[in-house]
Amino acid sequence: MENQGECLSPQEPEINLEALRKTVFDLRNLWQREGISQEEAKTRIKELKMKGEFDAVYQRSIERIKKETNFFREIEELGLLSGFTVGFKKFHWDKAKIRWNPLHIERIFFSDTVPWRRPMGHYDYRKNLVWLYFWPTKKEEILEYLVDKDLPYSLKGLLHEATHAFQCKESGKSKQEPENLRLLKRPLGESQAFMNQSGSTFEDLFEEMKGTVSCRGVKDNQLLYSSKAIPKLAILGLSVQEIGDLVSQVNVWDEEREIYPQIEEVIRGKLKELSLENPNWDELDEERCLKRTIDRLRTSIIVREELARDN
Ligand SMILES: [Zn+2]
Repeated sequence: MENQGECLSPQEPEINLEALRKTVFDLRNLWQREGISQEEAKTRIKELKMKGEFDAVYQRSIERIKKETNFFREIEELGLLSGFTVGFKKFHWDKAKIRWNPLHIERIFFSDTVPWRRPMGHYDYRKNLVWLYFWPTKKEEILEYLVDKDLPYSLKGLLHEATHAFQCKESGKSKQEPENLRLLKRPLGESQAFMNQSGSTFEDLFEEMKGTVSCRGVKDNQLLYSSKAIPKLAILGLSVQEIGDLVSQVNVWDEEREIYPQIEEVIRGKLKELSLENPNWDELDEERCLKRTIDRLRTSIIVREELARDN
């Protein structure tokens, strides 16, 4: 959709947060008033499957979401969009191999750690392999979740682990980085992965990361810095690959100033390029999140319309 991009450009007009908040308010009302509930959606999906009409409704919904919203923005940038059309069981990703197996988790985690919550998967950078601890996500599951403005947990896992594949310069090679260097980069890498998975605000991102298996052993001040710096880079227009490359190059944490100087330098350079000397980051972050909420609401409304439609 026009004028919905999340990136800044020079001479960007002032952010109109009020207008965005009003759009969210109106869409929420519409969302509550019209269409069908998640339960009704499930029943409707079953009916459509029995009648052999599900695929047509599914494809029509996906096409409309692509055309009318930016819901698939990160997914497209990660190169995962065709999974939605061909189905994730058949989906072949050109960036890394993907393995789906809910039983694999036992071998990886339950041996020596007690996770706070069930891990969704992991990225094996030595083999350039994304492991997901689920069976491949089904199309009916996708629609059920989209009705409720969200993605299935398994696909959030895919977005998360796929992001990690963009952060490894040495993926597929046996060369191993020292563990302390990997730990140093982890807050940044996790921040990018969680941001692509959920698109949360600065604060929520920090809360989401704290206490997860992948952030154990990481200092809180590094996590706090990363939960703001990575979304800032996205707001400033850096692509998934550009942020991933940057993360892979980081090798210093300045404990006194509580910053990663290499990241800070890129933010400063980009701000200069955009003639934005002193941006209001909280407003920019709110704008980013409001736009995302709008896309989620629009997506849900589209799916509910398509499910409710007589074929
Ligand atoms: Zn991770």
